Amino acid sequence: MNPIDVIPLPAFDDNYIWLLRTEGTPDCVVVDPGDEDPVLAYLEAQDLQLTAMLITHKHGDHTGGVKALKQHWPRAVVYGPAHEPVSSLDRRLEDGAEISLLQGKMNLRVLDVPGHTEGHIAYHGDGLLFCGDTLFAGGCGRVFSGTFEQLSDSLRRI
Ligand SMILES: [Zn+2]
Repeated sequence: MNPIDVIPLPAFDDNYIWLLRTEGTPDCVVVDPGDEDPVLAYLEAQDLQLTAMLITHKHGDHTGGVKALKQHWPRAVVYGPAHEPVSSLDRRLEDGAEISLLQGKMNLRVLDVPGHTEGHIAYHGDGLLFCGDTLFAGGCGRVFSGTFEQLSDSLRRI
């Protein structure tokens, strides 16, 4: 069994922000917080503390809540792609980087998956994959600042 709970927080009209937590610690992690409000509401209701944010790519609907969340949780570490213009990152991650979260209970590896954007990354490990706008349950993301060839290669990698 996977010890990590993956909780979808509804955001905007048609999206989710993934929140990750595990038993025995108030720590939690969010992936691509495009909006701070649903995250703040959940953290307050559940009495949790934000310790990390994982960013997959530069688009505003994936990064828009970072600054406000960092103001509330200044010790939360913001991880993101090395090769995208994302401000507010504390750690810029290259392909193959490994990060340990939730007091060592979750370990994820970074995978370069350019195509939707030129520097898009995904995080995988512990049976989980957070791939931003690269791959969806019913299709793949649009090509914005990457190329079709890159996206094709990235989907093959996943
Ligand atoms: Zn996007």
